[in-house]
Amino acid sequence: MDALKQYFGYEAFRPGQSGIVGSILAGRDVLGVMPTGAGKSICYQIPATILPGVTIVISPLISLMRDQVDALNDVGIPAAFINTTQTPDEQSAVFAQASAGLIRLLYVAPERLETERFRNFANRTPISLVAVDEAHCVSQWGQDFRSSYLGIGEFIAGLPVRPTVAAFTATATERVRRDIVSMLGLHDPDVTVTGFDRPNLYFDVIKLETRYKAAWVAKYVADHADESGIVYCATRKETETLAASLNHAVAELRSANGADPGRMGPVAVAYHGGMSPDVREKAQRDFVTDRVPVVVATNAFGMGIDKSNVRYVIHHNMPESIEAYYQEAGRAGRDGEPSRCTLLWNESDIVTRRRLLDSDYDNERLTPEEQEIVRRSKRRLLDAMVGYCRTTDCLHTYMTRYFGEKDTASGTTDGKCEGGCTNCEHTFETVDVTEVARAISRCVHDVNQNVGTGKIVRILRGSKAQDLSYLNPEGMPTFGMLESVPEARVRDVLSQMATDGFLFISEGRLPIVKFGTRAVETVAPDFHYEIKKIERKSPAKRGGAASGAPY
Ligand code: ADP
Repeated sequence: MDALKQYFGYEAFRPGQSGIVGSILAGRDVLGVMPTGAGKSICYQIPATILPGVTIVISPLISLMRDQVDALNDVGIPAAFINTTQTPDEQSAVFAQASAGLIRLLYVAPERLETERFRNFANRTPISLVAVDEAHCVSQWGQDFRSSYLGIGEFIAGLPVRPTVAAFTATATERVRRDIVSMLGLHDPDVTVTGFDRPNLYFDVIKLETRYKAAWVAKYVADHADESGIVYCATRKETETLAASLNHAVAELRSANGADPGRMGPVAVAYHGGMSPDVREKAQRDFVTDRVPVVVATNAFGMGIDKSNVRYVIHHNMPESIEAYYQEAGRAGRDGEPSRCTLLWNESDIVTRRRLLDSDYDNERLTPEEQEIVRRSKRRLLDAMVGYCRTTDCLHTYMTRYFGEKDTASGTTDGKCEGGCTNCEHTFETVDVTEVARAISRCVHDVNQNVGTGKIVRILRGSKAQDLSYLNPEGMPTFGMLESVPEARVRDVLSQMATDGFLFISEGRLPIVKFGTRAVETVAPDFHYEIKKIERKSPAKRGGAASGAPY
C-alpha cells in the first residue's frame, strides 16, 4: 500500500491487484488474466520495488519499453531496458548498473534471453522475479503466437536460483492458460482472472449489408456530434475512404439541418500503419486533444493511447476474435461514463475472415503441421466471434463467460442485463423455419455431404445453372423444394444450423456442408426449429438506424 501511494499516487488497489502482489511477495508464481487497461503492470512493478534482487520484465514490444521505463524513472523507480536500439556500450552500462543492484526493473524482449551476453549477466545477478507480459504469445492456440516466447521457460529453468515467475495476459481461453502454465513452467501458480465485465459499456450488434454500413456510421456520427468516437475498419484503404465519406456525409447532414458546413472542421481523421509517422502522429494528436471527434482506424490504433472520454467505438467489420474485439471496443468509456460499442457485421465478413485465415498464415519459423495448428486455433477464435454476432444471450454475459471470469456478468439477473446490451433490450421475433431446416438437411443427404453452401441453396431453389448439371439435381427429391423461400433466408437458416450443430461446414478453401452431431434430430417427427431475428422496437433510438435485416 505504501509503494502504491508513494510511487503511483493511488489510494487503493483495483480488483485482483493486491492478491497478485501478495502472492508474488510470498514467493508464489502467479498468472494474472486481466483485460487491457486493468492495471497489470503495477502487479509486478510494486513487488519489484520491494524484492531484494532485480525484476526482469519480458515484453514483446520494444516500442513501448521506453515509455514504460521513462514513466517508472519519473516516479523514482530505477528501471532500464536492453534492446536493439542501443549500442553495445550503452548495453554494457545497463548490465553493470543492474548487476550492481542499481536497477529495480530491467525490460527485455524475449529474443534477448537467448544471447550469451544476457545469459552471462543473468548468471551473476540475483534475480527475484521474472514478469512475462503478454504471456499468451507462448501459446500456439492464441492469436499472437511468437516462437521467441518458447525460450522463456528454458531461460528460467537455467538460472542458478529459480526466481518467482509472474505471467500476465488479457487472453483467457482455457487452452491458452494451460499452455502458459506448462510452457513457462509455472509452479502451482495463483491464477487470478478479473475485471472483464465493463458495466458502463452498452453492447450492440447490428447485421447490416456492406453497402449500408458507411451511411449508418455517418448518421451515428452526425447524431453524436459532440462525442468522441473510434471507428475500426479492416483495411487501411477502408479507413481512408470511410473517413472521407464521413466528412462528406456529415457536412451534408449538417447543412440539411441549417448549419454552415464551411465553418466546421473535419469530423473524422484516418489512422493506419501505412501513413507517414508525421501524418499519423498529427491524426492521433487531433483526436486525443478533441480537435477532431472521430478517428477511423485499423487495429494499429489504440496501443498506448490513453483517452478516457471515448463515448463510442464502432466496428465497421467483424474482427478476428473476441479478444481483439474486446480490446478495441474496451477503449470506449475508460472514464466509467456510459459508452456504446457497436459491431456492424454481415455474412460476407465471415467469408472474408475465413479466407484470410486460410491464405495468410505463413510463418517460416513453424513447420507446416504447426502452421495448421495455429490456423485451426484461429478458426476456433473466429467461431467464437461469429457466435457473438449471432447469439441472443446477454452480450455482457457472453463476454464474461468467454473470458472464463464467471458465469454471469455483474448487474445481471439470470444472465440478463438491464439495458446494457441490445439482446436484453430488444425482443426477438422468432421465425419457425422447421420445414426449411428439414429440406436443407435432406438436400445435404441428397448430395452425399459433398458440396458447398451455394450449391445446396441453388438446388433447393430449383436453379437450372450449368455448374450443377454434373449432380443431376433434377433427379433429387429436394430439387426446387424451397423455390418460394428467399435465398437470404435459406442461407441464414443453413448457417444457423451450422452454429447450432445440425450441420458442420468443413474448413479449407472450398468449404463443404456436412452433417453435424445433431443432424439426426432433423428427421425426428417432432423436430421443431426456430431462428431468432432482432427486431428493433424503436429503430431510431440511441442513434440506431434500421437493422437492415434481409427479410
Ligand atoms: P494493462 O497493463 O493491464 O493494460 P496498465 O498497467 O497499463 O494496464 O494500467 C492501466 C492504467 O490504470 C494506468 O494508467 C495505471 O496507472 C492505472 N492503474 C493501475 N492500477 C491502478 C489503481 N490501483 N488505481 C488507479 N489507477 C490504476
